[in-house]
Amino acid sequence: MSPEITIVIPMYNEEDCLEATLQVVRSEAEKVTDSFEILCIDDGSTDRTPELLRQASAVDARVIPVELSRNFGKEAALAAGLDFAQGDAVVILDADLQHPAHLLTDMVAAWRAGADVVNGVKHSRGREGRIYGLLAKTFNALMGGATRNGDFRGASDFKLLDRQVVDAIRACPERHRFFRGLVAWVGFRTEDIPFHVQERAAGDTKWSKRALVRYSLRNLLSFSALPLRLIAVAGFSTLVLAAMMAGWTLFRYLRGDSLSGFPTVILLQLMLGGLLLTSLGVISLYLAEMFEELKRRPVYLYRAPRTSDRRADADTE
Ligand code: UDP
Ligand code: MG
Repeated sequence: MSPEITIVIPMYNEEDCLEATLQVVRSEAEKVTDSFEILCIDDGSTDRTPELLRQASAVDARVIPVELSRNFGKEAALAAGLDFAQGDAVVILDADLQHPAHLLTDMVAAWRAGADVVNGVKHSRGREGRIYGLLAKTFNALMGGATRNGDFRGASDFKLLDRQVVDAIRACPERHRFFRGLVAWVGFRTEDIPFHVQERAAGDTKWSKRALVRYSLRNLLSFSALPLRLIAVAGFSTLVLAAMMAGWTLFRYLRGDSLSGFPTVILLQLMLGGLLLTSLGVISLYLAEMFEELKRRPVYLYRAPRTSDRRADADTE
């Protein structure tokens, strides 16, 4: 029989957090339902995460480990979570307890009262650098425009989704997935619950600065064709400008004014060159995204447990 609630936790090298997190999540879940599963997606961890997960699931069958074949990134781990989840509602939660698990009660209550999506919204952003905060704000503002649905300020992956929302998201065929964006895009009856971002329970953030910038850029590209449209606007404006300058030049020629303007020529060359190269660059970015999508490779690969795993666990105990 399928459980009422599935709690999906993506995990990448979380051996320091894992046990405490499972403990907290389990006790919070027991408060709201007697039918739940905790789906732990091991995103190709290289530490003892998979082993600890197997041990936890041997003790408590409600803990279900899903092992990916390598590190595919948090988005892929979330996609795997939605695919494997059986519950009527799915709650997504970080493994480091930065998303307060005690809000589970409120989220489930809101769902039972009729909400299809319950968003955890960051009320305070916890400890973040100023530049990081500013970049995050810019990204969220752009993203809000791109999905045409709402407000990404304070958006987080801490969410509860009803079964039909999960199925709607799983039906989105794109390979490049941006969970928050997809949830905003599918719509449904949405409710927000504010929360304060906690300190990471243990270990370090799994994101490098470079990975974050790449992630933001690709998400914007996958949700918005605005940069492409801007190229068209820039091209057309240049044409209008050129026509005006041609008119002006002809006018001066007919009046017999001599034309001086070597710097103008150079400047125009540079401007046009810059414009052309930038446009080409933007088009290339989209082309690269399309190339990735076209290959239609799976978003993640699942590694089925083998008997040798259990033997290895027994050896370490
Ligand atoms: N995570 C993952 N795969 C990755 C990176 C992160 O599954 O490649 C998980 C990680 O284990 C954690 C969540 O995604 O549960 C959020 O990661 P983290 O806390 O490092 O990010 P931050 O909170 O700093 O944004
Ligand atoms: Mg975190």
